[in-house]
Amino acid sequence: MSLSGKAAVVTGSTSGIGLGVARALASAGANILLNGFGDRSAIDALRAQMQSEFKVGVAYSDADMSKPAQIADMVKQATTEWGGVDILVNNAGIQYTALVRDFPADRWEAIIAINLSAAFYATQAALPYMLDRNWGRIINIASTHGLVASAQKSAYVAAKHGIVGLTKVVALETATTGVTCNAICPGWVLTPLVQKQIDERAAKEGIEAAKAKFELLAEKQPSHEFVTPEQLGACTIFLCSEGAAQLRGQALAMDGGWTAQ
Ligand code: NAD
Repeated sequence: MSLSGKAAVVTGSTSGIGLGVARALASAGANILLNGFGDRSAIDALRAQMQSEFKVGVAYSDADMSKPAQIADMVKQATTEWGGVDILVNNAGIQYTALVRDFPADRWEAIIAINLSAAFYATQAALPYMLDRNWGRIINIASTHGLVASAQKSAYVAAKHGIVGLTKVVALETATTGVTCNAICPGWVLTPLVQKQIDERAAKEGIEAAKAKFELLAEKQPSHEFVTPEQLGACTIFLCSEGAAQLRGQALAMDGGWTAQ
C-alpha cells in the first residue's frame, strides 16, 4: 500500500522497534520525523541513508519525551515541514526493574512520563491536524505488559496498561472520524532495551548470555522466538491501511503466544 505524501512522527525511532516502524512507513512512501537519543553523526547518517533508500523526506527532532513542551515542538516541526501530521507512532520507552518496595521514585516518574504521558501530549498536539484532514492513524506501542503483569516491573506495567486505556479513549473520541487509534502489544523483541535485561539476568545467575536469552524467551513466549521490528513495522502498515479503518481502540498482541496462555 502507498502512504506517499503522508507525514509520520515516530517517537523513539533512533533504535529498536521505533526504527523498524519508521523504516516500514518510509518504505511505504511516508515522510518521517525521527526522534530519540543517540550520536548526532550516526543519526544524520541514518537520515541520509533512509532518504536515499526510500526517496522520502526524513527529519529529526531530539525532543525529550519526558518534557511536554519539547513534545509540542516536535509535532510543530513536522507540521512546518509537511503541513500536518497524518501518522503518529508513540513508541519511545524505557524500562527499570525492581521490587515495588525498592523501586526508586525517580525511575517511577521517568517511566510514567516517557512511556505514558508522552503519548498523551503527542496525541493532543497531533490530533487537530488529523481531524482537519479527516484522516489519521495513532498507533501506540504498548506491550504484553499492557495486558498482563510481571514482577519487578511496576512502573512499566502501570504505564503500559495506562496507554492501552488511553488508546481506547482516543478511539472513542475519534470514532465518527477518519482518525483511528490502536495499540500494538509486542512480546519480547531483541532490542537494546531487552539486551540489557538479558545481560542483567546472565550476570545475576552467573550464566552465558545465550542461556539467559533462551531462558527469557522460554519463561514467557511459547514460540521461543523474538518478535522482530520488521514484523511490528508490517503490523503498523496494516493499521494505516483502509482495511483497518474500523479497527478502533484495540490492543493487538504480537507476542508469540505469550498472552494466549
Ligand atoms: P530501545 O531502547 O531500542 O529504543 C528506545 C527508543 O526510545 C530509542 O530511540 C531511545 O533513544 C528513545 N528514547 C528513550 N528515552 C527517550 C526520551 N526521554 N525521549 C525521546 N526518546 C527516548 O527500545 P525498544 O525495545 O525498541 O522499545 C521501544 C518501545 O517498545 C518501548 O515503548 C518499549 O516499552 C516497547 N516494547 C519493547 C519490547 C521489547 O521486547 N523490546 C516489548 C514490548 C514493548
